[in-house]
Amino acid sequence: MTKRALITGVAGQDGTYLSELLLGKGYDVYGVAGPYPGDFPERVAVSNGRLHAIDADLTDMESLLAAVEASRPDEVYNLAGQSSVGDSWTEAITTTEVNAMGVLRLLEALRQLAPEARFFQAASAEMFGNAAETPQRETTPLHPQSPYAASKTYAFHVVGSYRESYGMHASNGIMFNHESPLRSLQFVTRKITDGVARIKLGLAEELVLGNLDARRDWGFAGDYVEAMWLMLQQERPDDYVVASGEVHTVREFCAAAFSHLDLDYEQYVRTDLRFFRPADVNVLYGDATKACTVLGWEPKVGFGELVAMMVDADVEQLRAEGA
Ligand code: NDP
Repeated sequence: MTKRALITGVAGQDGTYLSELLLGKGYDVYGVAGPYPGDFPERVAVSNGRLHAIDADLTDMESLLAAVEASRPDEVYNLAGQSSVGDSWTEAITTTEVNAMGVLRLLEALRQLAPEARFFQAASAEMFGNAAETPQRETTPLHPQSPYAASKTYAFHVVGSYRESYGMHASNGIMFNHESPLRSLQFVTRKITDGVARIKLGLAEELVLGNLDARRDWGFAGDYVEAMWLMLQQERPDDYVVASGEVHTVREFCAAAFSHLDLDYEQYVRTDLRFFRPADVNVLYGDATKACTVLGWEPKVGFGELVAMMVDADVEQLRAEGA
């Protein structure tokens, strides 16, 4: 029988890759685009009659009950969220409403109407904050340091409590940063690849960034959605770190992006204290051994290939816009 999946945040970066993956596997996909459903057809790359748009909002319980009723899902992937750590300082309440309370609402809707559905929650490495150990794994204590991280930490725990209290098949993917040409421009990786493309094409003269020494574990979104799917194919629900296992500084990302277009980043990149966060986490570096051994997952796209893919896509996009 054809499997049915409900994806929230379907028009976002991960939702786009995940809907492509599931449609390729023959699923019927029901997608909740978010508060601005006008974006839906434009952002979702594949639409072949098995992708159905549902109008719902994580802040509206009634709309979630209706979405579950309409989709009757076998699997639910909660990718909706206010996904920017930076914006969570200025939009703390909205962030918490969507990322924390929204997950509780969705779990409640499932508990009431589809308790057998398997549930994936997009948790975040930001929950580790300035972590007690490096690399971080499933057992590393959580120490959230932003409204975003705090909201994701609440959601992480409520998923665990619904799993244990109600026996639901609910899993958290503790996702380290993952990027792609679909990453939105407010994130540092895409800001860099867009910036270098603009400089190369003569559209900009410099790129202004925050903390170049922040260290992150960056992977490719297309690989990470595969891990989400694998989690829901397991007999037992559980929590898994999903990470590339490599750590790089923002400076290294810049160097790789500029050198891909034969430029020297030191001539173009300037830092400005205004772009530093009130409390930045310094090193996030994940150990995905459990996901690799239990799920059989492995990332396919490495750091250099990811940077090159994003730079090339930005150059191509700017050229298509007439640059
Ligand atoms: P995006 O920001 O690209 O996608 C999130 C989507 O959620 C957007 O399409 C947004 O719609 C939608 N959304 C926002 N508010 C609501 C709401 N109230 N109801 C329904 N939908 C809503 O993020 P990503 O695809 O990169 O990330 C997916 C998830 O994974 C997010 O929850 C993020 O926090 C989490 N995550 C991502 C990581 C990463 O590196 N990418 C790392 C760790 C966790 P709109 O654009 O219309 O607001």
